[in-house]
Amino acid sequence: MYDVAIVGAGPAGSTAARYLAKLGFSTCLIDKCGFPRDKPCGGGFSPQLLEEFSYLKAREDSFAVSISKTGVLHPRGRLVALRGRADMMMTLREQFDNALLNEAIDCGAQPLTSCRVKSVQASKEKVLVHTSEGKVVETKAIVGADGVNSTVARETGLNVRWPAGSLTACKVMEIPVNESRITDYYGEDREYHFFANFGGRPGYGWLFPKINTVNVGLGIVTNAGGSLVEQFSLFVKMLQHEGLLIPSAEPDCARGALVPTAGPVPCTIVDRALLVGDSAGMVSPLTGGGIAYAMRAGKFAAIALAGALEREDLRAKSLLTYQRAWQHSFGRDMKRQLIAQKLFTSSIANTLFEIGHRDLKLQDMVAHLMASGSTSAATAARIVGRVVWVCLREVLH
Ligand SMILES: Cc1cc2nc3c(=O)[nH]c(=O)nc-3n(C[C@H](O)[C@H](O)[C@H](O)COP(=O)(O)OP(=O)(O)OC[C@H]3O[C@@H](n4cnc5c(N)ncnc54)[C@H](O)[C@@H]3O)c2cc1C
Repeated sequence: MYDVAIVGAGPAGSTAARYLAKLGFSTCLIDKCGFPRDKPCGGGFSPQLLEEFSYLKAREDSFAVSISKTGVLHPRGRLVALRGRADMMMTLREQFDNALLNEAIDCGAQPLTSCRVKSVQASKEKVLVHTSEGKVVETKAIVGADGVNSTVARETGLNVRWPAGSLTACKVMEIPVNESRITDYYGEDREYHFFANFGGRPGYGWLFPKINTVNVGLGIVTNAGGSLVEQFSLFVKMLQHEGLLIPSAEPDCARGALVPTAGPVPCTIVDRALLVGDSAGMVSPLTGGGIAYAMRAGKFAAIALAGALEREDLRAKSLLTYQRAWQHSFGRDMKRQLIAQKLFTSSIANTLFEIGHRDLKLQDMVAHLMASGSTSAATAARIVGRVVWVCLREVLH
């Protein structure tokens, strides 16, 4: 019997497996895909992540494609744009997730790939994990790291279905473009772009230049109406018209995927089980970025499970440290982002963009926020303070 079985070897699952195995617990990491596998994603995150998970630095060459240095945020209607300096690391998920899985394996986690989990049966003594291939994995505890359509979330009752309007449907494509053309289009800084509420629909678009590819995507909240395929085609045409994308890029090679963007589910623990990452809705409602949150949650889950295993008490009560850890780390941050998301879709958004446009420092602050996908209390306070200061400055002049 394993101490812990983790379902899903994305950023959340592989990080949880890495820490648990490192602490000496027998850990099985199950994924329905064979690795390396790709995942529809923008592949952008703040380089700060490598400071937070410093063991990744030794593997950086295997996944770090490039660093973009300037971010541009375009509001709905695109009358003004905010341009600020903030580094964003670009990766390809096929390479990044493979590096995370290898790290977990090297620390002692046992991989069980190409194996889809079908059902989960928990009793007082253990959990039985049944796979589509007829295998049964016996474990003391289970971690649901199986993404937005999580089987573990459903089977444990922690998230049976997403409430209406809490998912964003995306189209994304990684377009091959040669390196010199990328420099021609996006400069030495490899400017990356975010678009708020394209076509007047709640959601976001992005354009991330890398080394030999440009990643373009659009997400629209699922109950907003209208056709995503149509909007994505218009989005690509707009980028081409504005000289931001090569004319030969064809929108029909895009892939579809869902992202939970209404904040985390309220409860992520139950006896012998917990949820991490997308399965628990741990994604920035503002930018759709979830890699960093997934990894943080994976680490917190491992620490909480290690304590519970040592106490030989895997009841929900004993796993409360996990729920508290992620709430303390980014629970409030997500609430603030939900408020910011509402502001972005409200009528005062254009006024805020106008104010931001007049101040370079404010633009850097906003670029940092978009690159890290995080609004800590301090960041939010600094931005609000700066907005007030810019307004006052205008009045006094
Ligand atoms: C189009 C798009 C663009 C995005 N862009 C960015 C970005 O630029 N930056 C960023 O930070 N975030 C981005 N995100 C969000 C980010 O991809 C997720 O937040 C992140 O991958 C969550 O990690 P995870 O480990 O929780 O889940 P996932 O990465 O989804 O991993 C889940 C794993 O579970 C496996 N699995 C699923 N079901 C089963 C099953 N039944 N049995 C066994 N295995 C199973 C899957 O094969 C998969 O490997 C984007 C998302 C999308 C959809």
